[in-house]
Amino acid sequence: MAIAYLNGAWTAPRDAKISVFDRGFMFGDGVYEVMPVYGGKILTKTAHLERLARSLKEIRLETAHSQEDWSILLEQAVEKAGESNALIYLQVTRGVAPERSHVYLSAEPTVLITVTPFAPKTEQDIVCLKVCTKEDFRWHRADIKVTSLIANGMIKNEALSEGFDDAIMLRAGLVTEATSSNVFIVVGDEIRTPPKSELLLHGITRQEVIRVAQGLDLKVKECDFQVDDLESANEVWLSATGLEVQPVGQINGNQVGDGHPGPVWREMFQAFQKEKQQSIECID
Ligand code: PLP
Repeated sequence: MAIAYLNGAWTAPRDAKISVFDRGFMFGDGVYEVMPVYGGKILTKTAHLERLARSLKEIRLETAHSQEDWSILLEQAVEKAGESNALIYLQVTRGVAPERSHVYLSAEPTVLITVTPFAPKTEQDIVCLKVCTKEDFRWHRADIKVTSLIANGMIKNEALSEGFDDAIMLRAGLVTEATSSNVFIVVGDEIRTPPKSELLLHGITRQEVIRVAQGLDLKVKECDFQVDDLESANEVWLSATGLEVQPVGQINGNQVGDGHPGPVWREMFQAFQKEKQQSIECID
């Protein structure tokens, strides 16, 4: 069952209401996290809460919640939802303003948590994505996970209207990320992903993919690359909490590899599932 927590009250998500003066609504003034629940356990919770703390600090939004408080709330949310596999959205905005002003006047942050059922894909379900490249015209702090996703939405929907599944974004000719995921390429025996910077989100799944790859003795290099490197790579993948690791079969209409999920992706996918299972078993 889907459930929402809004400022201390538990409700069905459709019954959760916020003020029109909420700065999250008026200005997109808030940050968020998306966490996976598998087998009733929240995976990578600490990493997500650390990134949340960083995002809050970067936008200078103080809350009374300690990491332990967030953790307890998330566990309660999962218990109330009673779903084995789900996605948790945790959103914190600068709260309800007494008037419309750019000045930070509100005192109490708004806290929204939703848990919604989620069906993870099996290896057989996974199909290659058709992706295009687009100019990354977002602001220069894409490393902060802000709720204001207007540019990501615009770029994604432009890609969809042109018949693609998504867009990989380029800034000054260099790949940053896709509209809601990080990007990996496989070149020879090396896996490459753009380095962490203020121009892309430091994805938790990106970090997991790097960790799993190193455990498989695969070479990983964090380095910049361009559209030509995407188009000539043996494999291209996207990574995100909801996607895990998904292969790309076409870039700008050009086939990647043989257009089907590649052997390195397959190895990664299987190792990723194994790690996930081990994590589920390890969490009390
Ligand atoms: N990049 C962007 C722009 C995203 O929106 C997301 C996820 O929402 C990611 C990357 C992947 O982040 P994560 O792996 O933490 O889900």
